[in-house]
Amino acid sequence: MVYSACVPPRRATLRYHTTNGILLKERIGQLYDAGLRSLTIGFYGIGPAYDRYVQRRNRFSEFEQGIAAVRDAYGQKVHMQLNWLMMRPTSTVSALTEAFNFAQKYAMSMQVDLIHYSLPYFTEGPDRELQFRATDADAVRSVARELLQLKRAFPNVIVHTEIGIRSIPDWLLKGPEMKVPCDKYQMIWIRADGTVQLCYVTFKLGNLYEYRLSELLYGEKHHSAARDCFSLKCPNCHCGYDSRVQKDIRSRAAYRDDSVLEASTSFAEAPSHTSRGTCWR
Ligand code: SF4
Repeated sequence: MVYSACVPPRRATLRYHTTNGILLKERIGQLYDAGLRSLTIGFYGIGPAYDRYVQRRNRFSEFEQGIAAVRDAYGQKVHMQLNWLMMRPTSTVSALTEAFNFAQKYAMSMQVDLIHYSLPYFTEGPDRELQFRATDADAVRSVARELLQLKRAFPNVIVHTEIGIRSIPDWLLKGPEMKVPCDKYQMIWIRADGTVQLCYVTFKLGNLYEYRLSELLYGEKHHSAARDCFSLKCPNCHCGYDSRVQKDIRSRAAYRDDSVLEASTSFAEAPSHTSRGTCWR
């Protein structure tokens, strides 16, 4: 399990666990007693699709038992969000529908995570088989269109905004060329080994085995990292893609209506990251 902490405004901290869910059945009691009330859980498909991705037999069954155990023990006192990973092998409307039905079954909200290309702990598979290619554009847009319909029918289940959903094909197909200012300066990420960094990828601030968290936050190093994060002086990735396009004025214009999901290309050029073109609300 990975512990994450979001720090929206100064001092107000929202805590949640990101987990694969496998140990939830055994651990949820301890986590709940420690005050945890929010979980985000990676999801890679139903049954064999899930097992194939994690390369373990019967893992989906353990995964589902963990989710059910949380609901049985704590009902809606624990918020759970299903993070469906959109990757090339399973990027179909039917896979999206299955994931949505699973989320509904356990009263979970649902987010669509995009396959990564710069996370240091993430593998793209042999021959980058998990990554999309230009020839996948139509399939990706089909899934985005279906997600948009789900959003309109179940606005409280799908956490994304419409603008964010319309931007998904470009994030997936343009990869590092998709340059939208990053807002992860609002976050800190704490690894199991105590490392504290600004985001999932970079900007290490220190280690909790050497410093208190309060000593690592809001100093010059933290502020400098936050500025570099905004300016994309980093490997660049699509983390927080939805909130980023919401805050970027060029992106808001580019993804303002559904036609972008029909066109063969959406951006004549990737959005650039100038503070003048960004609206912070
Ligand atoms: S875009 Fe850069 S700062 Fe933002 S999450 Fe990705 S690597 Fe970190």
